Order: sequence, then structure tokens, then C-alpha cells
Amino acid sequence: MLSIHTILKRSRVNGPGTSFVVWLQGCIHACPGCCNTAACVRKPGRLLVEPDELIRQVLAERPDCLSFSGGEPFLQARELAQVAGAVRAAGIGVLAWSGYEYEDLLASRNPWQRELLARLDILISGPYLQDVPQREIWAGSGNQRTLFFGSRFADWQARIAGRGHIECTILQDGSGVVTGFGSFSTP
Ligand code: SF4
Repeated sequence: MLSIHTILKRSRVNGPGTSFVVWLQGCIHACPGCCNTAACVRKPGRLLVEPDELIRQVLAERPDCLSFSGGEPFLQARELAQVAGAVRAAGIGVLAWSGYEYEDLLASRNPWQRELLARLDILISGPYLQDVPQREIWAGSGNQRTLFFGSRFADWQARIAGRGHIECTILQDGSGVVTGFGSFSTP
């Protein structure tokens, strides 16, 4: 069972093209200035979803990319590896953020963390450091690296420099979700 904080079925600022975004519940990194502390608490998330149900929802939406955010997605690597494998088999790309560095995931003693890593098209790795200015559109701080694996999103490599964008989505129940990697301040 996946412990999930929030699902946003369609976004244009959380990955290449259209993304189905899943914010996982729980994180261990405790980055000062984290903008999603509600998703960091290690408690059951607002949504408890079986991997098969998440796969069904993603396939119904047919996004360009499934994006795992958080929280720390790699704390639920076993279930997410299952989801990633199924949606990639259906031709949908997979992206994940992680507070772990890429090299640490590659050498992880948890085989599911290595398996999830192997099923990604894009990894944005490293902790959020609030004093390092942003330099890539999906990375909140400039120390974080956007790593592309394989050729699926290769054309995006030349398009990730600079500040990201903020997106506000009004849901069917009237509530709103504000997300993204930009700033509300004027230049
Ligand atoms: S890894 Fe992400 S979610 Fe976790 S504390 Fe750092 S910024 Fe927040």
C-alpha cells in the first residue's frame, strides 16, 4: 500500500509535457526551508492506495510523464518500482525527485531503491539547500542535479536551464493546488 500525501492528475510544471504527479508521504532529510513539510511527517498519508490502483489511474490519464515527488519517494521504493515498471511498459515516462544523491541510490543496500532508480527516465537528486539559487526548472535549489536516463526525454536536456514556473490548479471540488518551482516575486 502506498502512503500518499496528494495526487494531481495533470500538471505542466512538474516534469516534461503533461505530468501525473504523486506526492508521497514521509521524508527523512529535514532540509531547512522545505516547502512541503506536511508531506514529510512519517504518518499514514491522506491517501492509502494500492499500486495497481495507482497504475490504473495513471493509464486512464495518459500523461507524458508520471512524477514522484514528496516527501521522499525512495522510502516507498518497492511499491513505486512496481508502478514505474507498469506505466513505462505502457509508453509513459517516469520522473522522481529524491533528497538522496544519485550515487547513494546507485549503491543503496536496498535492492528496491536500485530497482526504482533503474526504472526512471529522469531523477532530480540531492537535498534542497535554500541558500543555493535555482538554476534548473524542476530543481528547487542549484545543488540539485537533473539526470536523464535513456532517450525518451532527451530533447528536454537543452530546455531545463533557468527558473521554473508556478501553476495553480482549481479542482472539481473547488479547492486549489499551487505547485511548481518558480517564484511569486517580481524580478
Ligand atoms: S527531501 Fe524534499 S521533501 Fe524531504 S525535507 Fe528535503 S525538500 Fe523537503
